[in-house]
Amino acid sequence: MLEMEIRPELAEMRREVRRFVEAELRPFAEAMDRGSDYPPGLTEALARQGFLGIRLAEEHGGAGMGLAQYCLVQEELARGHPIFPVLVASSSGLTPMAIQRHGTPAQKARYLPKLPRGESRTAFALSEPEAGSDAGAIRTRARRQDGGWVINGMKQFISNADVADLFLVMAVTDPEKGGGGGVTGFLVERGTQGLVVGRVDRTMGTDAWTVAEVMLHDCVVPEDAVLGEVGQGFRLALEALDEGRLSVASICLGTADRMLELSVAQAKARRTFGAPLADRQAIQWMIADSAVEVATARSLLYETIRAREAGRPTGVMASMCKLHCSEMAGRVVDRAVQIHGAMGLMRGQPVERAFRDMRLFRIGEGSSEVQRMVIARGLLRGMAG
Ligand SMILES: Cc1cc2nc3c(=O)[nH]c(=O)nc-3n(C[C@H](O)[C@H](O)[C@H](O)COP(=O)(O)OP(=O)(O)OC[C@H]3O[C@@H](n4cnc5c(N)ncnc54)[C@H](O)[C@@H]3O)c2cc1C
Repeated sequence: MLEMEIRPELAEMRREVRRFVEAELRPFAEAMDRGSDYPPGLTEALARQGFLGIRLAEEHGGAGMGLAQYCLVQEELARGHPIFPVLVASSSGLTPMAIQRHGTPAQKARYLPKLPRGESRTAFALSEPEAGSDAGAIRTRARRQDGGWVINGMKQFISNADVADLFLVMAVTDPEKGGGGGVTGFLVERGTQGLVVGRVDRTMGTDAWTVAEVMLHDCVVPEDAVLGEVGQGFRLALEALDEGRLSVASICLGTADRMLELSVAQAKARRTFGAPLADRQAIQWMIADSAVEVATARSLLYETIRAREAGRPTGVMASMCKLHCSEMAGRVVDRAVQIHGAMGLMRGQPVERAFRDMRLFRIGEGSSEVQRMVIARGLLRGMAG
């Protein structure tokens, strides 16, 4: 709703994506609000538009776009439904980008080209029952054996695990080093003996977004399942999460912007005591507070993306974006519900769903407390960006 000066090609892209969301994706969002899982045709619609492989190189069938375009698309898709950007992330986010950056030519050729066509989905398996915020405490263990590795352990809360074809599994390969060079990333295909997707959970957010347990029991993978170098898995995970935080921030920003729009429309349309809600100072202040928060969040996010594109370090700023945008979206959607009154609490209403969806983002992909930890540590160590 509140536009900011951006490069002309990005502004044009924003208009196109917004048109596409309104014209093509709205029916899918409505179907999911009525409780449907992924409606048939949704993946194909995102694939046709080139969004699924948006960040993958053209040689792998992707659109070869940069971080700014990716975040802009995520922001706009989120205005329609949070599952749209989540689907895009499973094809162009954490695991795909880690493969594109660190994979061997054979790994890239095997796994990347199917993603833009919507023929494959990925999952990123780091969290465990005893290791969420404290990711360095993972216990999943990979031991070398002739010509490969045997993995044992359990992962938890893994997005898309029930539908993923490929898992990037983080496992300890050197317990003495742990997170400091003792963790390795393994590409494990669905169907590999010993990999079992366990209980599938639905969160308080949208029904279509599931998380699941992934059990690895004597799961044997070949040597070339290692992504990047042995012992570099944790570094690779943190690098992926760094960009993931900007994607999450974009999703929160897009949702908050849409909620502000709906708040304004409702305030104008609804009359009480003989006048529109919009005439009441109490309502105007809610709208004003949300507008300021959306605008400042957008400035911080876009500035961080520009800094990253310019090659400057942005670890601390990415955490600021994730923290600020997710908390801001929680407040904006809460005001939107208040302005909608009882209607805002009814199942199937966009503000009701967004209220539940936005709660997830203060915990997933690094909780607010963890982001504060990263920001404070960065400042105390004198890190730039
Ligand atoms: C919707 C969703 C999708 C997810 N998808 C994935 C996925 O695809 N892959 C994956 O690997 N993981 C995934 N996760 C897991 C996610 O990364 C973890 O939930 C998150 O890191 C927090 O870990 P936890 O839930 O175990 O909370 P805990 O680590 O148990 O923390 C509990 C609470 O204590 C706080 N806390 C913890 N330590 C401290 C501290 N030192 N100081 C102050 N406060 C602290 C936390 O902020 C949190 O509020 C997903 C989670 C959600 C909600």
